[in-house]
Amino acid sequence: MKRKTVEGPGRKSGIRRLQKLRVLIAEKELDALMLSQPENLRYLSGFTGSSGWLLISEQNAVLATDFRYVEQAKRESPDFEIIQTKRELHDWLPGLVSDSGWHELGFEANFISYDSYHKLSEAIRTKQVNLELVPTTGMVGQLRSIKEPEEIGFIMKAVELVDAAFEEAKGIIRPGVTEKEVAWAIEKFLRQEGSEGMPFEITVASGPNSALPHARPTEKIIRSGEPVLIDMGARISGYCSDLSRTLFLGKADKTLQKIYNIVLKAQTTAIEGVESGMDASQADQLARSVVEQAGYGDAFGHKLGHGVGLAVHESPTLGHGSSDSLADGMVFTMEPGIYLAGQGGVRIEDMVVLKNGKAKVLTRSEKNSFQLSAFSNQ
Ligand code: ZN
Repeated sequence: MKRKTVEGPGRKSGIRRLQKLRVLIAEKELDALMLSQPENLRYLSGFTGSSGWLLISEQNAVLATDFRYVEQAKRESPDFEIIQTKRELHDWLPGLVSDSGWHELGFEANFISYDSYHKLSEAIRTKQVNLELVPTTGMVGQLRSIKEPEEIGFIMKAVELVDAAFEEAKGIIRPGVTEKEVAWAIEKFLRQEGSEGMPFEITVASGPNSALPHARPTEKIIRSGEPVLIDMGARISGYCSDLSRTLFLGKADKTLQKIYNIVLKAQTTAIEGVESGMDASQADQLARSVVEQAGYGDAFGHKLGHGVGLAVHESPTLGHGSSDSLADGMVFTMEPGIYLAGQGGVRIEDMVVLKNGKAKVLTRSEKNSFQLSAFSNQ
């Protein structure tokens, strides 16, 4: 089942994405937009380096990066003008911009540090460049949230890989192994089968540890009768997957069995009810009402889900207060959970894509039977 590394987005899709972004830049009445979030750089230019800047205007598409990445940038982003930067942003940007005739420059407000912003503003002022820095959020994120068929293909490969890893995990989990041993076996499998690193640290949380939604694996030994909550992801051609399952080693405690069934019902209710055009907060409410009606509302302390793509957490946000609305082509998780401090927790997470107005579940891992019964006599 070895997977070959697949190439990232082709040049055609890069050009199409730039055109869409230019429409948004014009709508915001900006002369140009400056981007530094690595996933946004990869999405628009194909550049996979960890440090660089894109400057996009109606006429220009510039990729500025330092000595370490210049050759890589030329190779990965042939449609961009490559500029080699020296020192910090505030050292090179004002000079570059003063020749461009730009006056309103958008920047990613949630991806530039206060320190960089402050130094850049100072440099613009002292060098007397006629430039206003305009904070923006989610301009590329908005484009990225609607996946192209090619992107869904990469995501599917990453989903298939975590499904396979979950099967592998089921063969490893037994009384006496530690959480860390299980996590390492999963990680090894994912890497051997072609995952480009881990999009996030794997969670393997057993017994009371499973009540911590993002517990790190510990040296704790997994014992019979305990819940084991696993959360893992893979990355293929830059695209991520995200999967959570909760298993019981042998006979589960009554309360935990009960909350398992509530979480499963909450998830299936939301999957069946979610529709394109719906507010993302409404989708969250579909699952949350099931949990609330069962009396565990306070124990579902996180959002229903999040978009997944080049980043493991991206737009849309399916939670209370989210202003996102759902549309065909969006790929996101649906992952209700109930966590009882000191006892244990249950989370069930699938990835779905919205297609023809409804959710199509991408995840294949079994969720109706949660008992690893082969070990129940231990
Ligand atoms: Zn998730």
